[in-house]
Amino acid sequence: MSTFNILKKIYPINTSIAGKGNRKKLSIISKEIPIKIHNYKSGTKCYDWIIPKEWEIKEAYIKSIKSNRKLLDLNDNCMHVINYSYSINKVLNLKELKKNLYTNKKLPNSIPYITSYYKKNWGFCLEYNKLKKLKNENYKVYINSTHKKGYLNCGEAYIKGKSKSEILISTYICHPFQANDGNSGIAVAIQLYKFLKANKNNYYSYRFLFLPETIGAIAYLFHNEKKLKKNIKAGFVITCVGDKGKFNYKQTKNGNIFIDKISKNVLKFSKFKYNIIPFFPEGSDERQYSSPGFNFMIASIMRTPYGNYEEYHTSKDDLTFVKNKYLIESLHIYKKVIMALEGNSIFKRYQPHCEIMLSKYGLYQDISNLSNQENDENKKIMLFLLNNIDGNHSLIDIAEKMDKNIFSLIEVASQLKNKKIIYECKRTENIII
Ligand SMILES: [Zn+2]
Repeated sequence: MSTFNILKKIYPINTSIAGKGNRKKLSIISKEIPIKIHNYKSGTKCYDWIIPKEWEIKEAYIKSIKSNRKLLDLNDNCMHVINYSYSINKVLNLKELKKNLYTNKKLPNSIPYITSYYKKNWGFCLEYNKLKKLKNENYKVYINSTHKKGYLNCGEAYIKGKSKSEILISTYICHPFQANDGNSGIAVAIQLYKFLKANKNNYYSYRFLFLPETIGAIAYLFHNEKKLKKNIKAGFVITCVGDKGKFNYKQTKNGNIFIDKISKNVLKFSKFKYNIIPFFPEGSDERQYSSPGFNFMIASIMRTPYGNYEEYHTSKDDLTFVKNKYLIESLHIYKKVIMALEGNSIFKRYQPHCEIMLSKYGLYQDISNLSNQENDENKKIMLFLLNNIDGNHSLIDIAEKMDKNIFSLIEVASQLKNKKIIYECKRTENIII
């Protein structure tokens, strides 16, 4: 299925942090790629948190007592009820009702996306323009929802590489009716999985997670702490990848490890405009993964970051706001970064002393050959590489020093490797930075 069609399928599912909507979304994902579904029981203590009950919403509306006409109905848009809302059945005057109504003045024709997971609350979300028109009369408010013991579900897919060292790819499934926030990341992650699965020679192993934001990541980390600590080297949270905004690279907490250097190099030598933003412990699940107990170096390549676009957390973050073209561009950048990660390594020369006699290996362009730009560039990189390959510096370090595209260095290193001039001695992730 195309990236946009995947998004179209998962976008309208009424998800929360736990409940059958989440299982439905995971079952759609499982039709695309093989995922293992984990069930974490309500009430389980995970570090400082407790796994919540499953939420289900059956019916909800606001009705004018006078006209007996419904002003809002859950069936029109599930965003009309605050996510995780408790049941209510009351008659209120407008002043009382307004205390539990939520709007977004900046986008007066949008419905805001509001959640209340950890505070017992009820409420409705509606367009500000609609709120303005409400008359001073009595209204019946009715919400029929349940909070029952059950499970929080997380999906996990794993691709085994030559090494046990892992790259983590994490996305979140809890946002209903939000195209860019969360769901665009799921669609791109699914395609990235397919791309990596088709490549039989991956060096790294890849772990893909599809979980409810915050509590899902916390529950998953709690149940897999040992295994993850041993293997995860770096990773990405993929979200906000479908809008027209320029790219934004949110660095890892370290800011300058191999995954940072590679992502910046790929963006720099792409045709796209981009910004680099320092790590901050807000946003998405990078804040769980990089907490002191784990300290995983997790970055994020986004378009416009969460919170920075007007449509964020409103009904306007919809399937017209996200375009297939932008999803494909984002997927392209992620694929390039992964390919660069795979190709990046640390080499050593068999003969480290003085220059290598390149003509002996057929690598020196004869003077009678017409020199062209490509050959000159190749030679320049080759000489630079041979002068810097010392068993300590990875290709990305040398690419940074030369201000060259990492892929040119990967290509030249492979020529030198084939001629048995250099050999791979270790991977970047083994270096303590
Ligand atoms: Zn969000």
